[in-house]
Amino acid sequence: MRRRKKVVITGGAGFLGSHLCDRFVEDGLKVICVDNLITGNLRNIKHLQRNKNFEFIRHDVSKKLHIKGGVDYVLHFASPASPIDYLNYPIPTLKVGSLGAHNTLGLAKLKKARYLIASTSEVYGDPEVHPQTETYWGHVNPVGPRGCYDEAKRFAEAITMAYHRYHKIDTRILRIFNTYGPRMRIKDGRVVPNFIYQALHNKALTVYGRGKQTRSFCYYSDLIEGVVRLLYSKIHGPVNIGNPDEFTMLQFAKLVIKASGSKSKITYKPLPMDDPKQRKPDIRLAYKHLKWKPKIKLQQGLQETIQWFKVNLTD
Ligand code: NAD
Ligand code: UDP
Repeated sequence: MRRRKKVVITGGAGFLGSHLCDRFVEDGLKVICVDNLITGNLRNIKHLQRNKNFEFIRHDVSKKLHIKGGVDYVLHFASPASPIDYLNYPIPTLKVGSLGAHNTLGLAKLKKARYLIASTSEVYGDPEVHPQTETYWGHVNPVGPRGCYDEAKRFAEAITMAYHRYHKIDTRILRIFNTYGPRMRIKDGRVVPNFIYQALHNKALTVYGRGKQTRSFCYYSDLIEGVVRLLYSKIHGPVNIGNPDEFTMLQFAKLVIKASGSKSKITYKPLPMDDPKQRKPDIRLAYKHLKWKPKIKLQQGLQETIQWFKVNLTD
C-alpha cells in the first residue's frame, strides 16, 4: 500500500498554520505540526489532537529538527507575525527567519521534500511602487524596528533560492499580504483584532497617525487556497497572495464599527516608526499561473471574524 503523503508545517499552532493543518488533514495527508508556542496556542489545534493523521511536536525550529520517516512537503510558517510580537521578540524573529529557514530547508533536502516558505509583503518595506509586483525589490530600513522581521524574511527568501539553485530543492516562495480571520489572537496587536476588540467593548478605536495609510485585507480561507495552489504548482519565484481591495485605516475603522454595531468612537495615536504608507498586492501572477483570486469581500470576512471573536473572546 502506498504511504500517505506527509507534510511538516512549522508554526502549525498559529493562526494561519492551524488552518493549514486543517486543510491538509481534510485533504487526506498526514500532518506533522511543529511549534514552540511563542505566539501560537494549542487551542488552535485541539480539535486535531485525536486525529491519527495529525501529530504535534513542540519544538523551536531555530534549533535542528528531526522528523522520522519520509516527508513529502515542508511548509515553513513559524515566525512571530504581528508587529507587536516581533518588536517583543526581535531576536527569536531573526532566528526563526534565518536559522529556522536553514533548518527546515535542510530537512527538505534530507527528505527530498518540496519546500514552501511563508514570506511577506514586508519584503517590500514602505513601498515606492504601488501596487506591489513580485519584480519590485522593496524599500526596507534594515536598522529600523521592523528590520528584524523584514530582513529575516528577505534572508529566508534568499536562502530558499540558494537551496533551489545549488541543491536543486523544489521550492516555493509565498508573499503573504495582510490576512485575517478566526484564530487570530485578540490581543496580538494587529489592526484587525485590535479594532474588533475595541469595537466589541465600545472602546475608542485606536487609529495610528491620521489613518491615511492603506492596507488590503485577505480572508484566511482565500489565503489557504492560495498556499495549496502554489504548493502544487511549478513556480519557484515569489508569488503575491492577498486581496487587492485597498482601504485607509480610517475607512477600515469605520467599517469595523458599522459591522459590529458598536458605539465606539475613533481616537488617534502616534504612527509607529517605518509603518508602510501603502500596501496592495498585484496578483496578476497568481491569477495567471494558479488561477487564484480571492473570493471573500472584506465586509463578509469581517462579519465572520467578528462572530468568531464574540464567541471566543476570553478576556
Ligand atoms: P502567528 O503568530 O499566529 O503564527 C506563527 C506561529 O509560529 C505561532 O504558532 C508561533 O508559536 C510559531 N513560531 C514562531 N517561532 C517559532 C519557532 N522558532 N519554532 C517553532 N514555532 C515558532 O502568525 P500568523 O499570522 O499565523 O503567521 C504565520 C506565518 O505567515 C508567519 O511566517 C508570518 O510571517 C507569515 N505571514 C502572515 C501574514 C498575516 O497577515 N497573517 C502576513 C504575512 C506573512
Ligand atoms: N494600526 C492602527 N491601529 C491599531 C493597529 C494598527 O491604525 O490599533 C495600523 C498600523 O499603523 C498599520 C495598519 O494598521 O498602518 C496595519 O497594522 P498591522 O499591525 O495589522 O500590520 P502591518 O500591516 O503594519 O504589518
